[in-house]
Amino acid sequence: MKRKQLRVGVVGATGTVGQRLLTLLAGHPWFEVTVLAASEASAGKRYADAVGTRWAMQEPIPPAFSDREVLSATDVSRVTEEADLLFCAVSMPADETRALEEAYARAEVTVVSNNSACRTLPDVPVLIPEVNGAHLEVLSAQRARLGTKRGCILCKPNCSVQSYLPALTPLLPFGITDVSVCTYQAVSGAGKRLSDWGEIADNVIPYIAGEEEKSEREPLKIWGWVEDGRILPVWEPRISAQCVRVGVSDGHTACVNVKFRHRPTREEILSAWESYAPIDGMALPHAPKRFLTYLEEADRPQPRLDRDREGGMGITVGRLRPDPVFDWKFVCLSHNTLRGAAGGAVLMAEYYTAKAFP
Ligand code: NAP
Repeated sequence: MKRKQLRVGVVGATGTVGQRLLTLLAGHPWFEVTVLAASEASAGKRYADAVGTRWAMQEPIPPAFSDREVLSATDVSRVTEEADLLFCAVSMPADETRALEEAYARAEVTVVSNNSACRTLPDVPVLIPEVNGAHLEVLSAQRARLGTKRGCILCKPNCSVQSYLPALTPLLPFGITDVSVCTYQAVSGAGKRLSDWGEIADNVIPYIAGEEEKSEREPLKIWGWVEDGRILPVWEPRISAQCVRVGVSDGHTACVNVKFRHRPTREEILSAWESYAPIDGMALPHAPKRFLTYLEEADRPQPRLDRDREGGMGITVGRLRPDPVFDWKFVCLSHNTLRGAAGGAVLMAEYYTAKAFP
């Protein structure tokens, strides 16, 4: 049976994540893009003029959007008038972002957010459909707080988290007690391109504001459970994260060390990764056929070779080996603007749509 199309909008449509969203939403079988919005500086312009030379995708601007008028994101009534669901990816202060997202939700729109402003609220799910789809249950409490019937906010996790949490999740039954992770993050995660960020050439920048705190905290909420209208975080494992920026265009790499209460064998780890397929069968348009792919080659995964696996929605893992301090170590890779941002948001919207409007 053909699904009725939902009207969707992209807020922050001129930004790095917004551009990716538009390339994924052009011709989407379930969603029709009816609204593009950005800052006051872009408002009233044709999309192609507003984005101008900042268009950073390899493919051209989808023709359906070039001539569209860009609305001001803060014109809540216009932005919400013609949309059932809004993808939101804006560079604004956290308090303003939260106020904007809550205003959209109060106008009875579903907000799928790439921003971090609402992620720590206990009634806002931070969703990876393959990991914690059950957290949608908390939305009834969120709607009661916001005074809405349908309007709600769903957040996507930080992009670094999505490079290593997927590979850890199938190993939780072995009792993970400690994780040490170092992420090597691409420049697109900072909304930049290699060509216009001279400082990153021949360099590593060992600081990304706020990233380590999010990388240590968000997994605990994602692995948590819903009780009395709140998502309660797990208290284990302990996670220590270091996040550095490297001269890679797209693709976040994570080197992970893990300690277990019940140390699994190599075969048990590989089998847990191989068999982990919790949303297979839902037929979501952007779901990867294989969530986790393990490569045996000693020099994989690599961003240039592996970031586009499964259309940028698959996670690649490699170099599983014993660790003399922890139990095991391995390397993970995910595409930060696809799985880690726009693609993850579209998949989340598809998952929500399939659950809310079966
Ligand atoms: P970006 O390239 O800097 O784009 C920012 C967008 O926000 C633009 O569309 C901009 O519109 C709009 N904007 C800026 N100030 C605004 C205001 N006062 N009111 C309304 N709109 C405003 O940023 P980005 O990299 O796409 O990131 C957007 C969000 O996604 C951020 O919260 C970021 O942390 C998150 N995120 C990014 C990535 C990534 O890989 N890049 C990954 C995960 C999450 P104008 O063009 O009109 O200025």
